[in-house]
Amino acid sequence: MTEKTFYNFTLFDGTGDQNQADAWFTVDTETGALTQRGTGQHPQTDETVDLNGQYVMPGFLNVHTHVTSNPDAFDGRFGDSEAESAVFAYQNLQKLLKSGVTFARQLGTDYDVDVKLKRMQKKGLLAHTPHFQASGRAFSMTGGHGDSPHGGWTVDSPDEMRKGVRTALKNGVDVVKMMATGGVMTPGDFMDDPQLSVTEMKTGVVEAHHKHRKVASHAEGNPGIQNALDAGVDSIEHGFYVTEAEAQQMLDQGTYLTPTLIAEWTIPAYGKGVLPDWEVKKCADALDDTYKNFKRAFKMGVKFTCGTDAGTPFNGFDMTPREFELLTKVGMTPAQAYQCSSLNSAALCEVADKYGTLEVGKQADFQVLKADPLADVKNVQQKDKQVYLGGQREF
Ligand SMILES: [Zn+2]
Repeated sequence: MTEKTFYNFTLFDGTGDQNQADAWFTVDTETGALTQRGTGQHPQTDETVDLNGQYVMPGFLNVHTHVTSNPDAFDGRFGDSEAESAVFAYQNLQKLLKSGVTFARQLGTDYDVDVKLKRMQKKGLLAHTPHFQASGRAFSMTGGHGDSPHGGWTVDSPDEMRKGVRTALKNGVDVVKMMATGGVMTPGDFMDDPQLSVTEMKTGVVEAHHKHRKVASHAEGNPGIQNALDAGVDSIEHGFYVTEAEAQQMLDQGTYLTPTLIAEWTIPAYGKGVLPDWEVKKCADALDDTYKNFKRAFKMGVKFTCGTDAGTPFNGFDMTPREFELLTKVGMTPAQAYQCSSLNSAALCEVADKYGTLEVGKQADFQVLKADPLADVKNVQQKDKQVYLGGQREF
């Protein structure tokens, strides 16, 4: 084992709301894990790295991304072949890492490209990519949100769901994604359209949980959010119209909320005159209500995660850092906004033993910033930040 010690930096480890000045930590370069940590005089190890008084914080966990979706094309597509999708997915994983995302959960990927890429990553064939969980294609009803030629897995009965989820698990998915409501990007498809039924979703949830996998449900409006909660999903994705009663049910059941604020924000911000009017209007109307609903849910104690829905219009793979600025508008302090990523996202994905915070025993996945992230959430938006995986510099 060789040991590398980083020193001379201010540390925000992702757990509380305080920085530690004049910090250092040591990494086992074979396992990538932190072996010791402290302040003041640092130990002499095989290698030492002076971080010149900069700021260190954990790499981000982004629990909702779509690496085969194109944020710059109005139909959301990169091309019509699996080869094209795979190449773009690889590039998008690299963009995520460069922006500071060291762990990304895929929630709906054309051709199950993420499942296949993960197998290649395990063989060491994907350079400069974050750790990730793969969902493969998302489950949707015929004609529902996500029923696209290569991106959806349509099911129209509990039996079809059972067979589908079992097959996806056999293929190696880490997480199951289901569509409980309509969405923004399909014409004639609305946030308050309920889609997969409670029974269909519940059947999938039982199968996923039998294999110790989580279920993430796309649910933007009602009654779909309620349906997804009644089916027992582990996270409500988007949840823009979450009611007080639903927030209470989330607390009772331990369900997480992935707000994906940036996805709702980019469309009215950049879409006027570019995207169809109906799509811009759907998002602008929803954003005001969303802040109101999220403020209430957050005050009640619902656990928010960090997810951006990267791949939706204008919502690129470099934009995760901007989500934290929007989370502060829900009433969070900068530290609370980062904890959506460091603590809550790691807990939702059941990877908190390895990822999320910078504590002894966990992976040394971190970013180095010029300015204090606790002083201003915009400081994490630095473009030329340094990013490390297991103590190895990637960008
Ligand atoms: Zn999504």
